[in-house]
Amino acid sequence: MAQKQELLKASLQQHCRQEADTAALAKFLAATLWHYLVQSPQKHLNISLKGDLGAGKTTFARYLIQAMGYEGKVKSPTYTLCEPYQIELKQQEITIHHFDLYRMRDPLEWQEAGFEEHFDIPGICLIEWPEKAEGTLPAFDLQIQLTAGADENERFININALSQSGASILKEGASK
Ligand code: ADP
Ligand code: MG
Repeated sequence: MAQKQELLKASLQQHCRQEADTAALAKFLAATLWHYLVQSPQKHLNISLKGDLGAGKTTFARYLIQAMGYEGKVKSPTYTLCEPYQIELKQQEITIHHFDLYRMRDPLEWQEAGFEEHFDIPGICLIEWPEKAEGTLPAFDLQIQLTAGADENERFININALSQSGASILKEGASK
């Protein structure tokens, strides 16, 4: 029973009827990530964003990055593969690297582009289309899956923990 509860708490499902619901979920996750990183300032977290083209991966990432305190424009990293965002936490600055690997022609292009070092520093890597790297990326802590619903603005969003850190982030959020 206790174990079952643990599993249940390590995932989150949300039915978003409109974009504002997606924004609210991204803000909720941003608040728990913020809290976690303030407590563990040296941590690095890897978060994957999965779903078809137009599912809302970039939209979710944009709300998340802005809810973590970034005030500038968050553009899609479709052509650059990666965009960095400096975020002020309480005592320090961290970087969120937002990737979109859709246009990679080779699974190791992200390494050839010198992006490996982004995975070793305090902060977050948010990665759209991790499938394109065919398992060459470091392990993920959280996976966010977005699926379109019948209505144009309807989405189903599942967030799953893939590591102990990911599970404690979701549990922290659930206890609030
Ligand atoms: P992806 O990065 O998955 O290809 P985008 O985030 O670029 O998708 O595009 C999603 C589009 O769907 C945006 O134009 C966004 O405004 C729209 N949209 C409509 N409803 C929602 C919703 N509930 N959640 C996220 N995006 C939505
Ligand atoms: Mg995108």
